[in-house]
Amino acid sequence: MDYRHIPDPNDGVDDRAQWSVLVGCTCADQHLYNLRLHRFRVTSSGRVTGHSNDLLEPFFTVHPEDKDNTVYAEATAALAPGGRRLDVICTHYPPPHLVCPDKLDMPPKAVAVDLVNKSTSLLAPLPFLDGSHYAVSAHGELWAPAVLTERSEEMSSWRLIVHRLDEGGNGWDEVASHHSPGRMKPVNQYIFTWLPGYAVIDDKFILLSLADGTFFCFNCSTGSLTRVRTTDKASKYECIYGMAVHVQEDGAIYFIGGTTLFAYKYSPEEEDAPLEPPVMVDMLWPYYNEGCGYIVQLVGRMLCAVWINMYKACGCAARHAMITTFRISSVAKSDGEGSPVYGVEVLHSTCRRVDMVRDQTYPYNHYDTFATLQ
Ligand SMILES: [Zn+2]
Repeated sequence: MDYRHIPDPNDGVDDRAQWSVLVGCTCADQHLYNLRLHRFRVTSSGRVTGHSNDLLEPFFTVHPEDKDNTVYAEATAALAPGGRRLDVICTHYPPPHLVCPDKLDMPPKAVAVDLVNKSTSLLAPLPFLDGSHYAVSAHGELWAPAVLTERSEEMSSWRLIVHRLDEGGNGWDEVASHHSPGRMKPVNQYIFTWLPGYAVIDDKFILLSLADGTFFCFNCSTGSLTRVRTTDKASKYECIYGMAVHVQEDGAIYFIGGTTLFAYKYSPEEEDAPLEPPVMVDMLWPYYNEGCGYIVQLVGRMLCAVWINMYKACGCAARHAMITTFRISSVAKSDGEGSPVYGVEVLHSTCRRVDMVRDQTYPYNHYDTFATLQ
């Protein structure tokens, strides 16, 4: 059942589709079914076009066209300025039935997808083999922040590195690096990646959220990478998952954890105040660990969040994308101290079915992933 709180199109409101949102899912096991991009549209009033339970429109499939028939197991994506090109970084390996251990050492591939012509071109592969990484578009360039862990018999250590794609797309330059001796301890057992998420702030800074609950801020114009000061309330911090949204009007960063919308109040320019733990804004859907969700900005305080039941099958065996468009409100506390009070005004909440590659006999029902929302 849809929930709608938007003006009636019959009242002369412009109800034409204004934004296209891409939902990217990967499938690790199936050659040629790797990163699949689906699309839906949103009107200027926040209405998701189409009808409840429709199939999400398949848009384009990105697959490795190589003689080794590798598969794209995971992917992250970044929309280039102008929205015509989508840059994608994929980890890839041979199909499971062909895996031989020496072939697993393949550097992540980078692909530019032309969203108008629906064509792809290869960019230089990343200059490392294994690591937790993102494709990030900021300051007119493509960046690849990554956490690489190094293991030896005596100790473990990790490095946070930021690479930038060079002008011709033929190579990656290492722009910044931070080395930390010692093991990285994830803040909780549900974190499977060393670099769970990030946020781009004012098109100049990239806030990086690490699995151990720490944060780093990368300045795209100076190339500096600095640890963000936090308070002593370590257990109260939440990792950012995927690409968070920075809303300039609020000076806040919004992201989905489980099905909850969280907000960090953060400004890279204010160095005297430490980053406070996030505020829980609202729960967007009546689920939690059954799936995963991401968020994108439509315009200003108008955001769109999508959650898909990736980890638990529904009785009807379909994957359902719960799509919610909403507007953020924030009001300063009456005493003017601390974080403001945030609220959510839902505009449209609806669901669509997602065409996934699924093997009904597979016990965990979990070999495809909700990879990206753009
Ligand atoms: Zn169902």
